[in-house]
Amino acid sequence: MANPRDILKAQFGFDEFRPGQEGIISKILEGQPVLAVMPTGAGKSLCYQVPSQILDGPTIVVSPLVALMDNQVAGLRANGIMASCLHSGQSREDNITQWRDVTTGRSKILYVSPERLMTDRMLSAMKALKPALFVVDEAHCVSKWGPAFRPEYADLNRLHQLFPETNLAAFTATADEATRQDISTQLFGQGGEIIVHGFDRPNLSLAVMPVDNRPRQINNLLINQKGNSGIVYCLSRKSTETYAQSLRQSGYKALAYHAGMTAEARYENLERFMAEPGIIMVATIAFGMGIDKPDIRFVYHVNMPSSMEAYYQEIGRAGRDGLPAETVLLFGLDDIRLRRQFITNDGSERDHQMREFKRLDALIGYCETTACRKQALLHYFGETIQPCGNCDNCLNPPEQVEASQAARAIIAAIEQTGQRFGTAHIVSVARGEDTPRIHQFNHDKLPAFGRAKDLGKAFLQALIRQAVARGVLGMDISRYGALTLTGMSEAISSGQPFNIRPPMKSTAKAERQARA
Ligand code: ADP
Ligand code: ZN
Repeated sequence: MANPRDILKAQFGFDEFRPGQEGIISKILEGQPVLAVMPTGAGKSLCYQVPSQILDGPTIVVSPLVALMDNQVAGLRANGIMASCLHSGQSREDNITQWRDVTTGRSKILYVSPERLMTDRMLSAMKALKPALFVVDEAHCVSKWGPAFRPEYADLNRLHQLFPETNLAAFTATADEATRQDISTQLFGQGGEIIVHGFDRPNLSLAVMPVDNRPRQINNLLINQKGNSGIVYCLSRKSTETYAQSLRQSGYKALAYHAGMTAEARYENLERFMAEPGIIMVATIAFGMGIDKPDIRFVYHVNMPSSMEAYYQEIGRAGRDGLPAETVLLFGLDDIRLRRQFITNDGSERDHQMREFKRLDALIGYCETTACRKQALLHYFGETIQPCGNCDNCLNPPEQVEASQAARAIIAAIEQTGQRFGTAHIVSVARGEDTPRIHQFNHDKLPAFGRAKDLGKAFLQALIRQAVARGVLGMDISRYGALTLTGMSEAISSGQPFNIRPPMKSTAKAERQARA
């Protein structure tokens, strides 16, 4: 068998593997089904492209978009590696030629859409072809629990049974714990391995500030960024314009960017941002997809993003050149309320809404945590690191309050109700509330009922969010956010102390309004 390192050099022209790549490649070569979760730009394609040149038989890559397929094929061919694709955007003759290149072995890698692959005709052609490897790109589309479920991807769960001889590998940049597990089970059945890698961006500093006066806070942050390029994310189109305007009045080169502007105006601002140094782009999330400017020195969030995934992606646009970059998120209670309203009003199914609420709660937990932010962020993506020493919490450990008894009461409530209930009900049990659900399940008979009756709702909710953010409690998004116990919860039950950051003053009020 050829050596992956030699292929990397000879065919791709790279000297070294990036972190994580080699491990994934050797799993694939061993015939082990593997789901690799790596951020955008980490180099996922290479992880199957290198094996495709070594394996005995073609590699079939399932990809959702014609543009992505064409891109990949063009990139490979530019390296002198023959690759093919089948899609409706090219002529029948082209498709025939490309297929022939694969059957003759001239091309060892074929890109195809899921709907085309899963037709009976294609599947029987595949049987004859005997592929060595199926690759599912953008694998989060497989899972209903993921952020971008696609029904045509769901059908791919038949592959492992239809082709027991063919190994499978899947790749995604976005998948929380529950979604990852689901992808692995759907695609591989039992025995899939999940590898998470490369989410840490050591040059990004993280900080969260409670909102006090947003424009003033942003202005204070910008004082240290003279001459640097950066992004200030706002929630509404209108506020991008007002902030940009007021920054210009303070002497900054600030431009607005949002989907309500004309295409020409957006393009012009984007061009200036890319070309001129020191431009501050005040933007909605419409700005970012595909922006690859290496020297973005800061990303500030005037408003809270929609989820941990979105937050990670948005701050990830800073510091691509590897030099230090600063990210700050302003955390306001009005944002929590707005975000909850968005989810409630988005018209989607209840299941979907529940999961969106949990994603949002994870981000709120991150904002409230007293522990290292880097650790909390990476924990969410399944990676474990040491405290970063470079976030606001590491540099200035926040005020904490003792919450051991409260934590034990919550843990007892979770345990005694069978780890099947979400935050709202667990808080009701701990506080000894008189609700229909409590009666329905006879939970007023449990020893844990009312064990934390003197504590406020907002306090217990903050405690739970922070415990989840730190991995002291688990949250099963696939089961409507049911709270579960972990090794760390046992430690606390058996006496280890637990502290939290007190909820912000008006949390209780915001929570009441949000749930009203
Ligand atoms: P992803 O799919 O994870 O978003 P890509 O596979 O598109 O990332 O890779 C991003 C870029 O990194 C590509 O330009 C690719 O050629 C480059 N790259 C990947 N692996 C390596 C490597 N080992 N050394 C140098 N560059 C690499
Ligand atoms: Zn830290």
